[in-house]
Amino acid sequence: QRVSEPEEQRLLELLSYGLVAVGAGSAVLLRFIHMPYGRYSSRRFGWLLPARLAWALQELPSLLIPIWLAACGGAVTAAWPNRILLGCFIVHYVQRALIFPFLIREGKPTPFFTFVLALLFCVYNGYLQGRSLSNYAKYPSGWLKDPCFITGFMGWLTGMAVNIHSDHILRNLRKPGETGYKIPRGGMFEYVSGANFFGEILEWFGFALACCTIESLAFALCTLFILGSRAKQHHQWYLEKFEDYPKNRKIVIPFVY
Ligand code: NDP
Repeated sequence: QRVSEPEEQRLLELLSYGLVAVGAGSAVLLRFIHMPYGRYSSRRFGWLLPARLAWALQELPSLLIPIWLAACGGAVTAAWPNRILLGCFIVHYVQRALIFPFLIREGKPTPFFTFVLALLFCVYNGYLQGRSLSNYAKYPSGWLKDPCFITGFMGWLTGMAVNIHSDHILRNLRKPGETGYKIPRGGMFEYVSGANFFGEILEWFGFALACCTIESLAFALCTLFILGSRAKQHHQWYLEKFEDYPKNRKIVIPFVY
């Protein structure tokens, strides 16, 4: 039996609350354990997958599901605001699933458990954002000229640029063959330890402002919880590892936190 539109809309709403709960629950858990990948990777969380393979496979659902949902032709896919916002989400995941993994330099392997969690997250969120924007989000005429959309879109774009630039700085800290860690300098790293995470958080809050949907707000909040926690762990790790670590650097939000 097919799910009716009001039933699916209710499902998307519940999944949005679920996403915020996942983010908040992770933030609590991450006060006690390190997020097990990258520098905190450990065999305790299952056999290890090469970083490139794990990143490409785990992020792919968030690219393919929205493309498939849009191609199937949802009720509002043809509207320009929906096309552009779906495009923003898809552009991010083209970068994350098809470009970012192949640029990684000597990244630490990912435990199988972490890989499965990330994969499930990308299926969940790919469906949530893809279905919301292709079938339910309705915008008034002139939405593309609305300050809400313009500010949000600029935030998304700036956030993505900061995220990509910061990941580029991190990558270039290592010479070919090196696997160790150095103090990142330049760009937004002059202000925060988690500059790449700051970019990603800004990106999804901008996206949420441009979309004005509960689904996109839930994703932004979840990102804030998860990446805010990871940035805090990295910040403490840097302070313990490097005596000369810049003391004025904040954790993830410039000048604030
Ligand atoms: P990290 O900053 O932990 O690592 C990024 C890469 O840079 C890794 O290859 C890492 O190597 C390397 N690196 C990091 N710090 C240093 C250093 N000081 N010296 C040398 N090399 C370094 O980021 P994540 O791996 O957690 O995330 C990667 C991207 O994915 C980010 O852009 C992030 O925003 C995004 N992301 C988004 C999430 C979301 O919820 N939307 C969730 C998780 C990530 P190594 O692997 O060896 O540590």
